[in-house]
Amino acid sequence: KVRVRFAPSPTGPLHIGGLRTALFNYLFAKKNGGDFVLRIEDTDQNRFVEGTEEYIIEALNWCGIPFDEGPGKEGDFGPYRQSERKQLYKAYALKLIEKGKAYYAFDSAETLDQHRKDHEAKGKTFIYNWHNRLKLTNSLSLSNEQVKEKIAAGKDYVIRFKSPENEELKLNDIIRGEIKIDTNILDDKVLFKSDGMPTYHLANIVDDHQMQITHVIRGEEWLPSLALHTLLYDAFGWDAPEFAHLPLIMKPVGKGKLSKRDGEKGGFPVFPLTWNQSEGYREAGFFPEAVVNFLALLGWNPGTEQEIFSLKDLVETFTLERVNKSGARFDPEKNNWYNQQWLQRKSDVELATMFAAELKKEEVSAEPDYIEKVVSAIKERATFVKDFWGLSDYFFEAPSSYNEKAVKKQWKEGTPEIMGGVCTILENIDDFESSNIEEKVKGWISENELSFGKVMPPLRLVIVGDMKGPHLFDIMELIGKEESISRINTAIA
Ligand code: GLU
Repeated sequence: KVRVRFAPSPTGPLHIGGLRTALFNYLFAKKNGGDFVLRIEDTDQNRFVEGTEEYIIEALNWCGIPFDEGPGKEGDFGPYRQSERKQLYKAYALKLIEKGKAYYAFDSAETLDQHRKDHEAKGKTFIYNWHNRLKLTNSLSLSNEQVKEKIAAGKDYVIRFKSPENEELKLNDIIRGEIKIDTNILDDKVLFKSDGMPTYHLANIVDDHQMQITHVIRGEEWLPSLALHTLLYDAFGWDAPEFAHLPLIMKPVGKGKLSKRDGEKGGFPVFPLTWNQSEGYREAGFFPEAVVNFLALLGWNPGTEQEIFSLKDLVETFTLERVNKSGARFDPEKNNWYNQQWLQRKSDVELATMFAAELKKEEVSAEPDYIEKVVSAIKERATFVKDFWGLSDYFFEAPSSYNEKAVKKQWKEGTPEIMGGVCTILENIDDFESSNIEEKVKGWISENELSFGKVMPPLRLVIVGDMKGPHLFDIMELIGKEESISRINTAIA
């Protein structure tokens, strides 16, 4: 059975790149009838940020991609927070020492720093591996006695992985194919620290194995760890899962990875939900459908021209084989476009309910029925529900002012008389319905040999206050006969 996991470290809010990783894991799991696991990788106590876990869970739920197992949703492989699995890891580190695949190292941070500096001075890079192991203080350079003494004396130590010398590794990635690595460039990564905590690498491998993860889908920034992870699986004698490293998400303009700063500078969100002061996609008025849709296309392509995908469509069409290798450019404008597209796909009733909440803030009251009709008339011009009020205020209130430029252009000598004439026509219409009003007004225009240009623009101006809006007679039908007449009268009074 396919089992995948999203394994964030709770070191800050989940950003849009993390959410994409979660989404691709979810899609792959659901496409293959598998399980989507959430595992919190909180072994680094120094970087722990309160509230992150709740934030992650809320973000996943908001997007409609809930996990099957994880904190608060115990399955057969819990607990799902690494801090709660702490006692498990040491035995595995010791097992590797036993097998000769890892060793104790006692070097202080200062010593290592000094080595780094000395190397740098010679224009070299210090690597803690077979190059230097024997010159350093560890269980490969010391006798068993010395090692035992140091441990008994409570000396600080770490357990390091013993990277092999002179081997060519063939790594496999579903998206990138085979990757060859010369093990001589690998350093002996720390697996376990004397504070009793494993490092990311050890905990990650042990947990993926124990949780029976079949596919590891994660960001490209973890690709450099693939060699070590593959070696660790080998060292334990375990079957490794398959790996897929997702392409980086790039800045909207220029080079480099998308960062929080880009959002701050560009005024667009880079978090799904609000985190402290920063605005999130939800708060900016995005629909979860739009966020899921644009995230899916950040690095994945369906191989067709189709751009609009529901979560259900994605579950059906998603494959890792169609994930691109190269970075995906983040495009805030395009994200807005997705929201606009999803807004058009919502029912008027649903949009009206959301709009009603906005109207309440404006202290405007209207019948649900009426709100629905207004929404239907203006929604094609909107990207967000929050755009509705600015696009439709004149449906609820007579204009309090008129667009000055438009007045200059459209309000001429004779206009008040013409508007007065329209008024008389309107008064005599019993069936105040758009096409009927149109027929009567247009009839009157041609009978009096007036031009449309003399009548329609100023009429729009007095009804709307501006030159914007949908079909004018539709507006008049909605606001009604009395209100239409009253607006004309106010303007010519
Ligand atoms: N804890 C790692 C992170 O924060 C997980 C990387 C992985 O998926 O292996 O991204």
